[in-house]
Amino acid sequence: MAGPVLILGGTAEARRLAEQGTVAGYRMITSLAGRTAAPGPLPGEVRTGGFGGPAGLAAYLRQMGIAVLVDATHPYAARMGANAAAAARAAGVPLLRLDRPAWDPGPGDRWHAFPDRESLMQALPTLGRHALVTLGGADLTALPLARGIRITLRAIDPPDPLPDHPDLTLLLARGPFTQAAERALMTERGIDLLVSRNAGGTATRAKIDAARALGLPVAMLERPPRPEVPTAADPGTALRAIADLLRR
Ligand code: NAP
Repeated sequence: MAGPVLILGGTAEARRLAEQGTVAGYRMITSLAGRTAAPGPLPGEVRTGGFGGPAGLAAYLRQMGIAVLVDATHPYAARMGANAAAAARAAGVPLLRLDRPAWDPGPGDRWHAFPDRESLMQALPTLGRHALVTLGGADLTALPLARGIRITLRAIDPPDPLPDHPDLTLLLARGPFTQAAERALMTERGIDLLVSRNAGGTATRAKIDAARALGLPVAMLERPPRPEVPTAADPGTALRAIADLLRR
């Protein structure tokens, strides 16, 4: 009998893979970083907390006899991709990445791509006068670098600490939003620049389509680089790849 499948999780896709794998009869273990105080119940087994770098993860893979490692962490989780690749190599365990494909700019899109938050924030005043910043709650420490521009910061929960910026309005709202609602928001508030991560998928796409429809530029924070590994775009494809690996 093959060993368990370890999912490095913390995303909706990881949860769906754990569900589908459990239904298919595989022993699925989901690993969570432990950032969320009360994560919802997950099917299969759950372990929580960092491994202590790639060496710690490799030791865990060996100790648990993991048959397949799936890196299903968030596209903006900067470290785990490299850790997973190094650990899988060291332990001789096949690695699969589960990743929603990034959006590509299409006709009418006016995207400006930035590799990091600092360069993005510094460039904002050259791109507009009132930015709608939608970067998720994590890591807003670079926001004060956006000098001389109004900021409307949209978040689900109030950021703690609130970034120190002289012209900041906090807008608490939870999506999904329709394109019509995003257009209305941008028009009514006089937004002339959208700041976004490249989330991919449809759940947060409306703001990008609204910016295109209004002819607004988008300052796009690029995904952090990850090692090239076999990648599945959705949980169903990942499960088929896992089945193939376990048959070998
Ligand atoms: P990160 O920068 O890639 O990882 C930082 C450290 O956290 C890693 O070195 C590792 O510690 C630990 N870690 C990360 N993911 C883990 C996992 N699934 N299981 C066990 N340990 C993990 O990641 P992050 O941006 O801090 O994100 C942490 C978690 O939140 C991830 O699971 C990610 O999927 C989820 N998440 C992140 C974002 C985001 O915007 N970054 C958004 C939604 C969800 P050790 O080196 O000690 O193993």
